[in-house]
Amino acid sequence: MRYIDEYRDAAAARHYADQIAAITTRPWTIMEICGGQTHAILKFGVDELLPDGMTLVHGPGCPVCVTPVELIDRAVELARRPAVTFCSFGDMVRVPGTRSDLLSVKAQGGDVRIVYSPLDALKLAVTHPDREVVFFAVGFETTAPANAMTVFQAARQNVPNFSVLVSHVLVPPAIEALLESPLNRVQGLLAPGHVCAITGYEEYERTAARHHVPIVVTGFEPLDILQGVHMVVKQLEEGRAEVENQYARAVRRVGNVPAQEIMRRVFEVVPRKWRGVGEIAHSGLGLRREFADFDAERRFGLSGLTAEESTECISGLVLQGIAKPDQCPAFGTRCTPEHPLGATMVSSEGACAAYYRYRLRRGPASASAVGGGVAP
Ligand code: SF4
Repeated sequence: MRYIDEYRDAAAARHYADQIAAITTRPWTIMEICGGQTHAILKFGVDELLPDGMTLVHGPGCPVCVTPVELIDRAVELARRPAVTFCSFGDMVRVPGTRSDLLSVKAQGGDVRIVYSPLDALKLAVTHPDREVVFFAVGFETTAPANAMTVFQAARQNVPNFSVLVSHVLVPPAIEALLESPLNRVQGLLAPGHVCAITGYEEYERTAARHHVPIVVTGFEPLDILQGVHMVVKQLEEGRAEVENQYARAVRRVGNVPAQEIMRRVFEVVPRKWRGVGEIAHSGLGLRREFADFDAERRFGLSGLTAEESTECISGLVLQGIAKPDQCPAFGTRCTPEHPLGATMVSSEGACAAYYRYRLRRGPASASAVGGGVAP
């Protein structure tokens, strides 16, 4: 297949669904890790094609959603400073902190810029040496290489007015924490294809063996996801627990080695707090000592700023696959994309936003695209 519509073909989707039904002998619970996969599942009604009793639950793979509220508060605090130009990807600006968000700061006159690359922020710092330019470096292993390269360039070009507010997170430790939780009900995993394009999947092999759980590296189109589910179910039914690669068109076992090298050169593994989940050991990246001059928290003395999370928002349970968004009492009433209580309702990869957009507003099964004829 070469074109995107071929990965959304309704007849092929039904064929995969029939194959899944044919090999399924009992209910299974499978988690898709990535929020991009969650949106594809909801948008195309992939879950509605699966046999009765089979459950897809949604994982923590939305970088915006897992950024802890205190990091948002630190970003807001920085963006309010008159000398600071605060740069961020667009998804982050509406994520609520304790009392405000970056978009509100911008509306009140703060110099908040939406950029499409960390290099845009570095360019701003070079062209405006009178400003302190801070880039909000969030995301999984997918965005970390570009952010590492930008810090590396800033050091090489000696740009003293550039820094990064780092909130990078790593997928494998989060999966480990999830599988070790006493509340865990996940029996098989769809691993995020884009993350594995960078990291490869050797580390996932250790997780699969340790927890005896099948893991399939999976892409983001409906047929990718159905094929990934089929591969997971086949392993479950046969009692196997291995890592298999459905997304072979983009992922190699060893990953992208140069990208891994620049990540390791600039970042080191640190404990990181996940929104709604708490601190997970070895689950984040922080700047190495040699690049500490580019650490915005250190430069602006923000590390003591802490915050409490909303007690009303249950996104921590949603991100662990323990609850679904429509089980949240605030879903669609007190919490909407226009007035979000949690990040999972804001992000384009957030599970609550997906349920709101594709289930609440368009109705249940009848709205499914693959189920009712593929449409983008
Ligand atoms: S619906 Fe809103 S309040 Fe409920 S879990 Fe999702 S983001 Fe949080």
